[in-house]
Order: sequence, then structure tokens, then C-alpha cells
Amino acid sequence: MATGNIKVTAENIFPIIKKFLYSDHEIFLRELISNATDATLKLKHLSTLGEIKGDIGNPMIEIKVDKEKKEIRIIDQGIGMTGEEVEKYINQVAFSGAEEFVEKYKDKVEDSGIIGHFGLGFYSSFMVAEKVEIYTKSYKEDAKAVRWECDGSPEYTLEEIDKKERGTEIVLHIDDDSTEFLEESKITELLKKYNKFMPIPIKFGTREEVLPKEDGADEKEEPKKITVDNIINNPNPAWTKNPSDLKDEDYKAFYRELYPMQFDEPLFHIHLNVDYPFNLTGILYFPKISKNIDPQKDRIQLYQNQVFVTDNVEGIVPDFLQMLRGVIDSPDIPLNVSRSYLQADGAVKKISSYITRKVADKLISLFKNDRKAFEEKWDDIKIIIEYGMLSEDKFFEKSDKFALYPTVDKEYLTFSELEKKIKPAQTDKDGNLVILYASDVKSQHSYIEAAKEKGYEVLLLDSPIVSHLLQKLETTKEKIQFARVDADHIDNLIKKDEEKISKLSEEEKEKLKPIIEEVIPAETYTVQLEAMDSNANPFIITQPEFMRRMKEMQATGGGGFMGMNNFPEMYNLVVNTNNDLVVEILNTKTKKKQNRLIKQAFDLAKLSQNLLHGEDLTNFIKRSFEMIK
Ligand code: ADP
Repeated sequence: MATGNIKVTAENIFPIIKKFLYSDHEIFLRELISNATDATLKLKHLSTLGEIKGDIGNPMIEIKVDKEKKEIRIIDQGIGMTGEEVEKYINQVAFSGAEEFVEKYKDKVEDSGIIGHFGLGFYSSFMVAEKVEIYTKSYKEDAKAVRWECDGSPEYTLEEIDKKERGTEIVLHIDDDSTEFLEESKITELLKKYNKFMPIPIKFGTREEVLPKEDGADEKEEPKKITVDNIINNPNPAWTKNPSDLKDEDYKAFYRELYPMQFDEPLFHIHLNVDYPFNLTGILYFPKISKNIDPQKDRIQLYQNQVFVTDNVEGIVPDFLQMLRGVIDSPDIPLNVSRSYLQADGAVKKISSYITRKVADKLISLFKNDRKAFEEKWDDIKIIIEYGMLSEDKFFEKSDKFALYPTVDKEYLTFSELEKKIKPAQTDKDGNLVILYASDVKSQHSYIEAAKEKGYEVLLLDSPIVSHLLQKLETTKEKIQFARVDADHIDNLIKKDEEKISKLSEEEKEKLKPIIEEVIPAETYTVQLEAMDSNANPFIITQPEFMRRMKEMQATGGGGFMGMNNFPEMYNLVVNTNNDLVVEILNTKTKKKQNRLIKQAFDLAKLSQNLLHGEDLTNFIKRSFEMIK
């Protein structure tokens, strides 16, 4: 690593360049192709202004590799340079650009998140070449062609040459420790990575194309082949087009073009297009989020004027949308800066909130236009939406219009529909609306049934961050409370003013409690006597909402609970004092029989919460067989 007191002069700039961008050597190709592209776009522009006589044809850029001679050539048909321009732009401007870059970043190699992606331009060729030549002829009339050569020392040569065609050819004499770039496969890989959507066609070699057979042609005849230019890029990618010119199929085709190894179809797309107060185009796709999705693969790609920059859009795209796929293209994102600076940048903040707004608006319109289709997609997109509701207040505000709360019977309700539906039945005696939910239909079956018997609605909320979301909803909406169906006995979850008649007197209850507590492990279970319907189960195990939720939030990374590490598993054992079995337990005279009844009832309650395992389960089965013998 370079130290702070290196004086950047022509003598040492090249070794520094090489050292600095060590991991990013490959960008030389992108930089040179970007220059070739700029020169070609300028030519096209001048031609439309009538400044160039004659037809410029369809200019392209060509890459040639000669492994034997250890050369890479980048050839364009752009505006070219005169001798003075080489003097000015390459010797002075380009050089001082590189010098400035090195000066600025020599102490910041560690912070090179995005640094190194851009900024070195032409001189990045010295990261891989021991000698560089430029052959160039300007579009200007009577301009003399010139050759420039430099071997990395401060001296260069510039001479007039005989070159007929307009444009520039850069010849890199690859040095011995960069020979990997002489492999055709390596160049193909780089072209596909950085140049796949650049606006000027890029040719790399040729390929064979099979011609379709003519009508009436002989079946046995060999199909005719022709040799065509191997163009590696699509100069007109979908995001640069007008949304009204694209059909759904076009968006799907572009998705496959972006991610050839991705076989799932996207669920829907959002076309971004803004030119004030910043410039940004792009297409974002909502993918199917499956459990084994790899967030490091097939990420959103960031481009600047169709040049690939990075697929790490942290800080530019809000966190909750990082799981989306697609492309963002903006010349307004500063790249030679660290991530922390990026996050504080005004333009970038605006971009991030613009993207959030567009996504929310799209969700609203999808919901409005075809609610049924939206409901079908809900389970695939809910994680992203719930994460967004938690992390972005603006998104949370809009989410009332499209966030869905499915019931265990697969009815998808918005929050206001849900409220309407369960009011006043699920309003408790204090005026709170209690929203019941389950996280798993199978294991919580008996609790769901108990709630349904009362005529209550039960939601199915099963994503991993749901406890955070409920916390947020409870604090932002008034008089709302969520309770999982197994958090307590149903009459306690939604407390009404009814007087409950207990079969047991206070004295009897006082006698019963210690008898049960003696058998039940006190460190995990708290015994709670309740006068419930006589046909409700005698023993029910519940897990208080608060403790369980804290535990879940801790497990999924909830802030604000520091220091409350490792919540113990705590349950309540609700004993229904109106159930005949409980009365029988109280009245059983022999201690042994009494204990056996309690154990059996307790194990059954554990069984229904899937809490009976190991030795306890073995003993339970043994005891049960004996009882039916
Ligand atoms: P930048 O591209 O950021 O300006 P570079 O160091 O890459 O910096 O290039 C310096 C200048 O050299 C360019 O601005 C351009 O004027 C000129 N140049 C470089 N490559 C070409 C090319 N292929 N054709 C014409 N001009 C070029």
C-alpha cells in the first residue's frame, strides 16, 4: 500500500496505478471501450448536425486479441484525434486526471467500495500493458494521422503516420503478469460483464450462423452456413426504450437477457424513467422469493449511460428492495466516493426515495387493476413488502392501500377491510380491537378452532419478520392489539365483560393450585386457573404474546432489546376449573392416582403444542397403554 508522502510525478505514476487498482485491473477494457463509445457517439452527433460530410455508415467498435504477439487492440471509427489533440487530451488532460485520482485515493485503498470503478480512463491501460500505442485520425478535413507511443516512462513519441480510415486504434502490449487478458474466454467474460448493453455495437471475432433452408430444398443437403460478425452487445436494451413501446413479453425477454441462468419468470416489473431533478432510467423486477434464494446472485445492476458499473447498489436502492432484480442507469450517482458519503449525498437520497415511491405506486396500481392476480402473488412478495413497511415510513404510509392480511381460510383482506369485518365482535371490554393470528395452521389447529367457535376471524401471518411488523402496527394504529391464538385461553385473549361462573369455590381453587404445581416443572410453566366452558379442554398450554414476540424479534435481529439476551422458554398452563376432569383431580383421594391424572392431562396439553419429546414422550406412551389395558 502506498504511504502518504509519495509525490506523484510522471516517474512513479504507473507503478502506483498498477498497485492501486490491483483487484480491479480488468476495468481497463471497459475504460477504453467507453472512450471508443464516446468518440463514436460524438461522431454520430456531429453527423446529425451536418458537420460531417457524407454517410458515416453504421460505425462499430472492434476488439482484437493476438495471443502470440501479446497484443490487444481496441479499434473505433469515431471522431479520432489530431496530433494537437493527442498532445492535449492524452498527454495533459488524461495524465493529470490519472494523477489527481492517485493523489486523492492513495490513502484510501481500504475504503474502495466503489472507488476504482471509474475515473482512471485511458491510463488504466497501464495496469495491464507495458507499452501502449495510439493510431488515430481525426474526422476533421485534412487532418494528419498520428501515432503515439508510451512505455510507462515519462517519455512518449508522437509522429505522423499514414492511416486512411477515420478513428482510433489503441494497441496494448500486454505485460507478462497480465497474460490472462490474452485469453479469448477472459475477454468475452469482461465484454459480457461490462459492455453487454453499451450503445455502439462491439465486435469480437466472428461466428458461424446456419441459414434457414429454402422452400423445396433437398432434405439431405447440408445446411448452409455463413460467417457473421460476433456482436457481443445489445445497443438498445429495454430500459432505454419508451415504456409504451414495450409489451409484457419484451420485459420478460429482457429479464432473460439480464440473467440468462435464471429460470423463474419475474412476477412483475416497474419501468423507471425520470429526468428531473435527476436523470434515471431502469427496470426493476419482483422475483419469486423462495427460501433458498441467494441474495448475492443476480442482483440489481447499476449502469452509467449503458456502461456497467457494479451490482452492489447498497445505499442507492433502499435496503428492502435489494432483493429485486433489474437495472438502474443514472449518470447522477457519484461513484468515486465511499459508501458513507454516498448515503449522505442529496441526489442519491432523492433517487432512493423516488424508487421507493415508484414501487409503492406500482403495487397500488396492481392491486387496483387486478386484485385477484395481486392476491395470488401476495405470498411471493410479502416479505419484501413487510420489510419495506418496517424500514421506510413513506412506504408504510402507502402500504394501507395494498398490504394484505390473509385469513387462515385464504381470504385476503386489507387492514380496513379486516377492521370492518371483526368489529365489534373482536373488540374487548376496554375498547381494543384484538386481531387474532396463527403462524402455522397445522400445529395451532386446536387454538384456531377454539377461536372460530367463538365466531372470531384468525389471520395467517407466517413470515419471519411478522413480530416486528405487528409491533409497528400496534404503535401506529389506535386501539389495535395482535395476539397469536395460542398466547392465552381464547376468553382471555379477547376479554369481554361477562361474569364467568366457576364450579369450584375460592377455597377449592386454593387447594387445587399447589397440587398441580407440585407435578408441573415450575421453571417453565406457570399454573393459571380459569373458569372456562365445561367442554373446553381441562389443560391448555399457552405462550404469552409479549415474551414470545420479544424472543422472535431478537432471533430476527430486532433493535432495542439489547441486554435482554436469551429469553427463556416460558409457558402458561391454563387449567379449566369448569371441566369435570379438573374437578375429579381435586377430589381424587390417593396421591398416586392424582399425580397420574395430572401428568397425563399435562402431557396431552404438551402434545397439542408439539412440546412432548424424548423421555417424556416415551413415558407418556407407556402410561397411556397401561391406562387402556
Ligand atoms: P475521459 O474519458 O474521462 O475524458 P480519458 O483519460 O479516458 O479521460 O481520455 C482523455 C481524452 O482523450 C478523452 O476525453 C478524449 O478527448 C480523448 N480520447 C481518449 N480515447 C479516445 C478515442 N478512442 N477517440 C477519440 N478521443 C479519445
